[in-house]
Formats: sequence, C-alpha cells, structure tokens
Amino acid sequence: MYSENIFTKIIKKAINSEVVFENEYVLVINDIAPKAKNHWLILPKNNYSDLKDFLNNASEDEQLAFFDCIKNFLNKVEYANVQFNIGEKAGQEVMHLHAHIISDY
Ligand code: 5GP
Repeated sequence: MYSENIFTKIIKKAINSEVVFENEYVLVINDIAPKAKNHWLILPKNNYSDLKDFLNNASEDEQLAFFDCIKNFLNKVEYANVQFNIGEKAGQEVMHLHAHIISDY
C-alpha cells in the first residue's frame, strides 16, 4: 500500500534534491547521506512502494525505463553495490521504490 513520503515530494519538486538525471519515467538523485563517492538513488516517477510492487504492477515501458536507467548508471562506474530494500523489516525507510547504486569507483 503506497502512501505519500519524502520521495513523492522530491519527484514533484516540492522538496529540493540533487537531480543527476531525469526523463518521463525516472528521476535519479544523489543520496542525502552518501555511503560512497557515488551514491545514486534511481526512482520511478510513478508511485510504487517497493520492487515487488513495481514488478507486479508497473507497465512494460516503466520497467524498461527503470532498468535501462540502472544500466546507464552502472556503466558510469567499474564496481558497485546495487541495493533494493523491500519492506521496513528489511531496512527500507522510504516507502517509494528506489535502487541504491553505491560506488567508490
Ligand atoms: P532505504 O533505507 O529506504 O532503502 O533508503 C532511503 C535512502 O534515502 C537513505 O539512503 C537516505 O539517506 C536517503 N534519503 C532520505 N531522505 C532523503 C532526502 O530528503 N533526500 C535525499 N536525496 N535522500 C534521502
């Protein structure tokens, strides 16, 4: 079940963030508390609470755009950790799907 949160406001530009890429489907921002030199958050613009919700409910176009964006950001670095937290019990703090791409390289 999706409810409004900080990323909803960032996507609407009601709250500032460091935007590094944007298109019709996705927004990429710098994490406010980076765990490495590069710590990008890839967000779909539409509201999905987590990866499971997205994979079950997003259109093919949305899914293609999201994973294409992840590919493009992975191609910027040599090594990276990619993380999806799914649910509070797994450490998810913001209930809007985001992929973490974390890289010092
Ligand atoms: P989660 O634990 O939900 O997977 O990760 C949430 C991430 O969002 C954390 O790494 C946290 O630092 C980041 N974050 C939380 N609030 C903000 C914010 O207002 N702006 C940005 N850019 N990142 C945020």
